[in-house]
Amino acid sequence: MYTIAIELPFSAAHQLRFANGEMEPLHGHNWKVKIEVSKESLDSQGLVIDFEELKKTTQGIIQRLNYTFINEVPPFDKVNPSAENLAFHIYQELHRELKKEAVRIEKVTVWETEDAQATYIA
Ligand SMILES: [Zn+2]
Repeated sequence: MYTIAIELPFSAAHQLRFANGEMEPLHGHNWKVKIEVSKESLDSQGLVIDFEELKKTTQGIIQRLNYTFINEVPPFDKVNPSAENLAFHIYQELHRELKKEAVRIEKVTVWETEDAQATYIA
């Protein structure tokens, strides 16, 4: 089994909705996203998937969040924009876009700050 990973940054604001209906103060982060994909055997070029292709596909997904107020970007107009929910959302979008590739998305990790991260494990 082979695993590769890429990391990409984005910047965006968010505001968590608490269970009691109150809102966290609006604030921004320089987020970081890590994608880990695996494959049993390598392709004819000796790759799991081309790093650049994985970066480009992931970039297309996080571009829709970059420089936004995430709470205004579907599904986060309804879904709480936590790092956990962002990781799952990015996983779902990437899963759809990589369907034609014979790779398995293992994990999507989202850093809200350098010392706070959330991971969705597929
Ligand atoms: Zn935050």
